[in-house]
Amino acid sequence: MKEKFLYSRKYKKENTIINLNKTKIGGKEIIVMAGPCAVENKKQIIEIAKVVKKLGAKFLRGGAFKPRTSPYSFQGLEEEGLRYLAETKQKTNLKIVTEVMDTKDVKLIEKYSDIIQIGARNMQNFSLLKAVGKSYKPVLLKRGLSATLKEFLMSAEYIMKEGNHKVILCERGIRTFCTYTRNTLDLNIIPALKKETHLPVIVDPSHAVGVRDYVIPMSKAAIAAGADGLIIEVHKNPEKSVSDKDQTLNFSQFQQLMKEIKPVAKAVGKIL
Ligand code: PEP
Ligand code: MN
Repeated sequence: MKEKFLYSRKYKKENTIINLNKTKIGGKEIIVMAGPCAVENKKQIIEIAKVVKKLGAKFLRGGAFKPRTSPYSFQGLEEEGLRYLAETKQKTNLKIVTEVMDTKDVKLIEKYSDIIQIGARNMQNFSLLKAVGKSYKPVLLKRGLSATLKEFLMSAEYIMKEGNHKVILCERGIRTFCTYTRNTLDLNIIPALKKETHLPVIVDPSHAVGVRDYVIPMSKAAIAAGADGLIIEVHKNPEKSVSDKDQTLNFSQFQQLMKEIKPVAKAVGKIL
């Protein structure tokens, strides 16, 4: 058994800062990633991107490959969606974060995306972890639905062992006995991860709570607890969103979120 895991503070004491063309994840600045659950069409993604950019987001999120519970639900636009993301990036200068679900698509996503997202359902898909571990692009690793802290970190280790040390951890809620929200946001894991690892930690309150009205308070809580950033679902018309409409913010709610997290960031010595 290896003693000093690559993720651990014993291996590297100081925080890892992932620098993407001057946008730094894991430093003093709170980084906000925002956008729809899924890329639906070109007009939709460009419209949303322009607004979230204006309101302060540094990354555009949006799935082109969607892990859906039902095989009959919308599965994503796949490469067409990636092309829309690339076009939107050109128009807005926003960086892109999008999910890869299959090892065969890693090269494709790598070509279009600035950060490769590994979804909660694939946190222990070890062949996928090894494949993104060989990529030169940073990886956003989402916590599995019932993963312990150790399992989460070991998945990061799988990626790092292959040579890619640019891993961002993302808490996105876990399954508990509480069913009044979609999942339960495990705020505890933020300071616990910060103690164990030098890797940046961000929070996805949208998938954690599953209820639009709770996204702003939990965003503030995440920053207060030490998160380095947020990933938020935003849509021009959430009710018409093809997926995750109940947790998706409209533009004025996202504007409110950006306004309300500012003083919290300041209070914990961060900037926004
Ligand atoms: C997503 O971010 O689009 C998503 C599917 O999230 P998760 O993997 O956390 O469920
Ligand atoms: Mn979603």
